[in-house]
Amino acid sequence: MPSPQPVIVWFRDDLRLSDHPALHAAVKTGAPVVCLYVLDDSVGRSPGGAARWWLAQSLRALGAAIAVRGGSLVLRRGAAATVIAELAREIGARGVYWNGIAQAPHRAAERQLEAALVRLGVGSQSFPGDLLVPPSAIRNKEGRGLRVYTPFWRRALSLGDPPKPLPAPRQLGPASKIAGDGLESWGLEPSKPDWAEGLRETWTPGESSARERLRDFLKHTARGYVGDRDRPDRDGTSRLSPHLRFGELSPRQVWHAARFAVAEDPALEPGIEKFLSELGWREFCRHLLHDHPDLATENLQTNFDGFPWTRDSKALAAWRRGRTGYPIVDAGLRELWHTGVMHNRVRMVVASFLVKHLLIDWREGEAWFWDTLVDADPGSNPANWQWVAGCGADAAPYFRVFNPVLQGEKFDPDGAYVRRWVPELKNVPAKLIHQPWQATPIELASAGVTLGKTYPQPIVDHARGRERALAAYAQIRRG
Ligand code: FAD
Repeated sequence: MPSPQPVIVWFRDDLRLSDHPALHAAVKTGAPVVCLYVLDDSVGRSPGGAARWWLAQSLRALGAAIAVRGGSLVLRRGAAATVIAELAREIGARGVYWNGIAQAPHRAAERQLEAALVRLGVGSQSFPGDLLVPPSAIRNKEGRGLRVYTPFWRRALSLGDPPKPLPAPRQLGPASKIAGDGLESWGLEPSKPDWAEGLRETWTPGESSARERLRDFLKHTARGYVGDRDRPDRDGTSRLSPHLRFGELSPRQVWHAARFAVAEDPALEPGIEKFLSELGWREFCRHLLHDHPDLATENLQTNFDGFPWTRDSKALAAWRRGRTGYPIVDAGLRELWHTGVMHNRVRMVVASFLVKHLLIDWREGEAWFWDTLVDADPGSNPANWQWVAGCGADAAPYFRVFNPVLQGEKFDPDGAYVRRWVPELKNVPAKLIHQPWQATPIELASAGVTLGKTYPQPIVDHARGRERALAAYAQIRRG
């Protein structure tokens, strides 16, 4: 009897087995399933260093989960359409299935693959997977996506619950004898120097750890989410962003688990509503990216095209290294370097500091985040940078300049967050920790701080920085 023709499942930003519509459908055909991941740096934005580290761990975890079910994950590298069509021909596949990604370069790659498969006489099917709501479902009368978050999210909620998540397949064998690359040969992890120690200390990528984190959040953290989510000194948020970025969890799994938690315990409702609305921001950013593929390079508000950004490589370097002399800013940038994430409130403060106090182009900051965040997301990163810079959709008004001292005092009142990430200030009293330059020489000496030596003097004066930012903004308003 001829062996049945296999179905290839192309894994992409959906490195999970449960709620994976393409995998689910492939298993249902009863044909042998070949699980494939293709490293293709020619499509979309190539991941930065921290995200590549995450990708390697996540692929390892996925490979292990597939192996437990009797199968194997084939790794290949190259232009996805070509590589997959070649594999389909090589093994006589009857079809290729994948979950779609609603982003222009990925859609183009999908179309190329479809065409190549048609030429080979191989079937293909694409399934929805990475969003709660497809961009086509939320359009204005002119057929364009919405650019204001509140009506966007209201519309998304009015569409009702997304479909229920699908179970993971129990069996995926037998393992294919198909040649593939070794993960190590892709060089996704740093070696010389190995800067990933902090990432290893902080994270366990992979689907089972993502699910555990979600359970833990719903059980312990969701109750206090409304009050704690803005506090970088507390463990008040889900920390699910990198898991969502790589699709180790689908947004609809998060949605349904959260709704179920409220049904079990109605006291969770306010926290869960707020949490889901944050998931709504992820969705909003992805929809914006769908409509504006050049979100990372072009101002959404074109009057910012003539903005008088400064070029100051010294200030940019001090910002990147967390040596601006503003403790909350420095703490955030050092947290980022060590852990691959930064608390959301602090992301806003450090981004505002770069574009407003230092007048440095938001694209410089976006690029640094892109390289250093494990959750670096092609939608959320540029959309949030544009939001902070004032040039984005539904953006914060440019004239709102965060005061890093007041932000620190409000959201890190005892200075615990600063003490953790800027240890040279750990003995500064709470009332001075967000502005050590206000301390007397005796106070500084007893905290073991010499400004300009053990910790930098502020690289810009807040009031002067603010005035300069407003003057720059006035130029484009006039123009
Ligand atoms: P929670 O508070 O638990 O929120 C749950 C989920 O909602 C998050 O995991 C995330 O998927 C989503 N979410 C929350 N806030 C936002 C937001 N403002 N925009 C979009 N989605 C959101 N988030 C990324 O996932 N990737 C990025 O590259 C990214 N870059 C950012 C850059 C800047 C300048 C700013 C201000 C924010 C950025 N964010 C980004 C949004 C936000 O900071 C992170 O999603 C959040 O800190 C992740 O922590 P959490 O998972 O504990 O969030």
